Amino acid sequence: MIDGSTKIYGIFGYPIKHTLSPLMHNAAFESLNLNAAYLPFEVRPEELKRAVESIRALGICGLNITIPHKERIIPFLDELSPEAESIGAVNTIVVGNRRLTGYNTDGIGFMVALRKDLEISPKGKDIFILGAGGAARAISFVLAKEGVNSIILFDLIKSRTQGLAKDLRKNFPQCLVKAIYSPIDHLTLSNINILINATPVGMNKDDPLVFDPKLLHSKLIVCDLIYNPLETKLLSIAKRKCLKTMNGIGMLLYQGALSFQLWTGRRAPIEVMRKALYSGVGRKIQC
Ligand code: NAP
Repeated sequence: MIDGSTKIYGIFGYPIKHTLSPLMHNAAFESLNLNAAYLPFEVRPEELKRAVESIRALGICGLNITIPHKERIIPFLDELSPEAESIGAVNTIVVGNRRLTGYNTDGIGFMVALRKDLEISPKGKDIFILGAGGAARAISFVLAKEGVNSIILFDLIKSRTQGLAKDLRKNFPQCLVKAIYSPIDHLTLSNINILINATPVGMNKDDPLVFDPKLLHSKLIVCDLIYNPLETKLLSIAKRKCLKTMNGIGMLLYQGALSFQLWTGRRAPIEVMRKALYSGVGRKIQC
């Protein structure tokens, strides 16, 4: 029941109709009996500054930030967590004493999913990341911090690959970082332990694979950050080859759980949130 004391949380994005976050957070509030509600806000890029000003004006208690605002919102905030600062993107805002602090829980969300759902420790592993956009930035910084041995990056946009590689080398000199610009071949993947798709390729049924599936060797762990569909073409081929796989739902779940904890100071009800997400995607599968 919404009343005069209900605390308001939400998400800014454009477009926003696809979001599963309201389902996940409202289920969590309900299960812990918190007088709070989580709403989607469709914020056009040109309205972002005014939307941020409205956070204080309306007394909104906390927010998630999604595409296309994760980087552009930074100048409008009062402070950043060290992770958000180095990644250069924000997916969570905590409001305290009318000050807006930006956090990035995407990378840690991916890491928790890797550890809890796949039972994999990234330490010492060799990683290949397809894409060098916002999600790739968030996960590569956390992977490097967790002590992976090497990260290879490939993005269609050369400057993006170069920029991320440069930032990673500067922040984590102990991690070997390589940017590649030519098509992915057998040699590139031969020593890789974990392959991560951080591009939107695979969201549509007709999307092609970014490389020849013959290159998926028997020791590879394959992760796709996409959560809708739950099983992309890449994951389906990897599963047929009996490789360990992980879709994006775990990352979505744990980044949301971390945001929830930052806002409420309460431990997030993970299984309630997971169930809400699966009900939103529409079907249950083993992942
Ligand atoms: P983004 O900032 O647009 O970055 C994606 C990058 O991949 C872009 O630089 C894009 O280049 C590049 N790319 C596209 N096709 C490629 C190809 N064939 N080969 C190499 N690079 C290619 O997007 P993002 O925010 O990082 O999101 C990436 C994916 O992660 C999306 O599917 C998103 O849904 C998912 N995601 C999941 C979670 C989660 O919680 N599970 C969280 C965040 C993001 P162009 O710009 O030229 O296309």
